[in-house]
Amino acid sequence: MKFSGIYLKQGKEQSVRRFHPWVFSGAIQRTEGQVHDGDVVDVFDHKGNYLATGHAADGSIAVRIFSMNGYDESASFWENKIANAYELRKRIGLVGNHETSIWRLVHGEGDGLPGLIVDVYGTTAVIQSHSSGMFLERKNIAAAIVKVMGDQITSVFDRGDGKAGGDSQPAGEYLYGKKDPDVCLEYGCRFRIDWEHGQKTGFFIDQRDNRRLLGEYSKGKKVLNTFCYTGGFSVQALRAGATLVHSLDSSQRALDLAIENVALNGFEENTHAVIKADAVEYLREKREEYDVIVLDPPAFAKHLSARHKAVQGYIRINEAALKQIKSGGILFTFSCSQVVDKKLFRDSVMAAAINAGRKVRILHQLQQPPDHPVNIFHPEGEYLKGLVLEVE
Ligand code: SAH
Repeated sequence: MKFSGIYLKQGKEQSVRRFHPWVFSGAIQRTEGQVHDGDVVDVFDHKGNYLATGHAADGSIAVRIFSMNGYDESASFWENKIANAYELRKRIGLVGNHETSIWRLVHGEGDGLPGLIVDVYGTTAVIQSHSSGMFLERKNIAAAIVKVMGDQITSVFDRGDGKAGGDSQPAGEYLYGKKDPDVCLEYGCRFRIDWEHGQKTGFFIDQRDNRRLLGEYSKGKKVLNTFCYTGGFSVQALRAGATLVHSLDSSQRALDLAIENVALNGFEENTHAVIKADAVEYLREKREEYDVIVLDPPAFAKHLSARHKAVQGYIRINEAALKQIKSGGILFTFSCSQVVDKKLFRDSVMAAAINAGRKVRILHQLQQPPDHPVNIFHPEGEYLKGLVLEVE
């Protein structure tokens, strides 16, 4: 099949040649044929030389590139893509790991598949598409996952959310198999994952290594885990021997699962309590003596236009935490806003420390784990950053 063609303005081919996976609408000189949101399109330079193939989209990112050597619509095309992603997870020790059965198989641009997320929870793979193009490919992708992973996967669930697919889109469906056991492992701790209704694909897998690191600072400590979601950091702190953990979130559904996850791991009820509250309000009002505080808010800025407001948000929340943490306390603070880069985040936290009047040292600088790889030509893919601070 011949796909529609998109011809770039002179000079605009350079970023594509340098493997940046997005074509912005302003780079396009002309379009050959009718192009709709989600269509597969070939991209050419202004002289008509083939550059790449991708999914067309409405909006400022006009094409998301997934191939630089054509697309043949055969099953093997998607199998090769998934096999490459799977190979990396094997290499980093996540496939067949007895301690951890929760990991990311496909991380969008980081795996050369913009718009596609695939997470593995035990024997279930969960697909989430962030572009119409990937949404339209979901059945081919599910078939490829089953082919590549064989009997390690007994079901594939499609989240079907995001804007892709329009109103007619189902709320989520099994593309293969049926609902499988949903208790999975992260570094030996057990978690019930709600991939049908939970946030993202059910769990914030990107914090795996940072949750484990929290354990190293939690023995004998009183820990406050704000924005706790289903209790990932709380469980790791309890396992490491925290004397008391408070898990705070504004979502009751998340807190119910946090309680369940703490119980699943056999911890005493008197070492854990949940708090349903707004994190900033709680941090400002409460004068508990916490030794360790975790701040892991949702993305404060989804777009560049919201960056200034996001920075103010980071300063406010970090200042509140720094003001009340015990002397010698440890603060784990994160940002997952892609438009707030490492330096801006660090500067925001520094501003918070100045406002709080506390002396602060950086012990660790944290990031996303290797199953969330960053294409070096697409720095936008580096979104999770964190600091571990010691507060005098
Ligand atoms: N740390 C978690 C992931 C955090 S996701 C983990 O390791 O799994 C962000 C969480 O913040 C969500 O659960 C959301 O319900 C919660 N949240 C959003 N706004 C909030 C607010 N103002 N106060 C408290 N929690 C909030």
